[in-house]
Amino acid sequence: MLDSPSKKEACGIFGIYGVDDPARLIYLGLYALQHRGQESAGIVVSDGAAVSTHKGMGLVSDVFKEQTLQSMKGTLGIGHVRYSTTGSSMLRNAQPFLVEQIDRIFALGHNGNIVNVESLRRKLESRGAIFQTSTDSELIAHLLVHKKGSLEERLLKVFSELKGAWSVVMLTPDSVLAARDPHGFRPLCIGRKGDAIVFASETCALDIIEADYVRDVEPGEIVIANRQGLKSLRGERKSRSAMCIFEYIYFSRPDSMIFGHGVYNVRKQLGLQAALENPSDGADIVVPMPASGNYAALGFAQGSGLPYEYGVIRNHYVGRTFIQPLPAVRDLGVRLKLNPVSTILKGRSVVVVDDSIVRGTTSKLRTRALREAGAREIHMRISCPPIRYPCFYGIDFASRGELIACSNTVEDICRFIGADSLAYLSLEGMFKAMPLPHKHFCAACFTGKYPVLMTDTFTKTCLEPATNRAVQAI
Ligand code: 5GP
Ligand code: MG
Repeated sequence: MLDSPSKKEACGIFGIYGVDDPARLIYLGLYALQHRGQESAGIVVSDGAAVSTHKGMGLVSDVFKEQTLQSMKGTLGIGHVRYSTTGSSMLRNAQPFLVEQIDRIFALGHNGNIVNVESLRRKLESRGAIFQTSTDSELIAHLLVHKKGSLEERLLKVFSELKGAWSVVMLTPDSVLAARDPHGFRPLCIGRKGDAIVFASETCALDIIEADYVRDVEPGEIVIANRQGLKSLRGERKSRSAMCIFEYIYFSRPDSMIFGHGVYNVRKQLGLQAALENPSDGADIVVPMPASGNYAALGFAQGSGLPYEYGVIRNHYVGRTFIQPLPAVRDLGVRLKLNPVSTILKGRSVVVVDDSIVRGTTSKLRTRALREAGAREIHMRISCPPIRYPCFYGIDFASRGELIACSNTVEDICRFIGADSLAYLSLEGMFKAMPLPHKHFCAACFTGKYPVLMTDTFTKTCLEPATNRAVQAI
């Protein structure tokens, strides 16, 4: 059975035109974008006429071996890493999605979530279309083959029918294209490596192949790289963009520039702002919850004047496969990844800074581990506001019922995770820390104000209020 067509699509995409060894460079680009998706990886390359592809489940380094990369010859190509989501973990959904139809061949990779998938898909199915996967890429592919006109005309038509978030890379035998939805929800940048053109979700993927950042693909823009050079087509563009604020808070890599600004500094500003709002007087040290909390914690320490200490150490070699010991070790998942340093924590009042709380379950286990390591007081500071609403545009948040802040007060959450105090950053504080005015962001996960309205049934059901199971269980 196919899973819900409306499942989340948080992914990383990469494209390159005009090189001798595209597969290897795409491999490196995807390697740098691995944090955006660990479920599957795929590459499609073309030598101008023939196309070759390889996809598989797992990490980029598991899916691609030297021999495979060597066999993929060409001068252009695209790649994709897909995020792990429950229920849709299958090779069939791995991207890029390749279409071969009569004399047409093209491939697509997509990041984001199209919110009118169901109705568009139903319309196509009633006309005889047969879907192989539940990906948004396949939907775009079907829409493209049903349209008339040149590729450029068809793309503009298709994108005008889609609602929601899409950053897309596309390959034809002799060109690479990149496109962003009219709101610009997800990031997508353009780089140059000599004469070659590069497209990537984040600039960290340009750095790894020594490409220079040129600019972002604009919201509503389609950029085409081919023998004629670089061409830009303007589709619809909203007067206000709706860039995902959570990309800055958590999702993107701190060494990337997204939406034209460095992620590291934004995270530090968020932490600084958190220190101004809730300083936690009397605490001895500031401890980051690695790795995502590191930069906000640094800002918090600088803003509060408290010493910054690595009170929790991360094991960088946690793989996906490990042998479960018998009898089972309690909280093994957390213990494998993070270990508190008791010599730093013992007897101290600690401010623990993390970027966000989603379900609250990991925070609870980590707090317990800090106490067991001897922390006298634990004051949690979160560098974003409470996440109360699900994301329909590509961040893999739980449904409303699983978001702890959806139906619990900050005091309830503090009790649940077992901290002595808990303070979130305010909405105003979060916007103040951003490098762009707040009107340019989608902050629906905090405000419930969705820039694109949902019409399909799946998304509507997700908005129904629900009680929080995690808290009810205590
Ligand atoms: P929780 O206590 O809500 O279970 O987990 C909080 C932790 O989850 C934080 O350290 C935060 O960095 C991390 N986190 C936030 N958003 C996401 C996400 O979309 N996916 C994953 N895997 N982790 C996230
Ligand atoms: Mg984290």
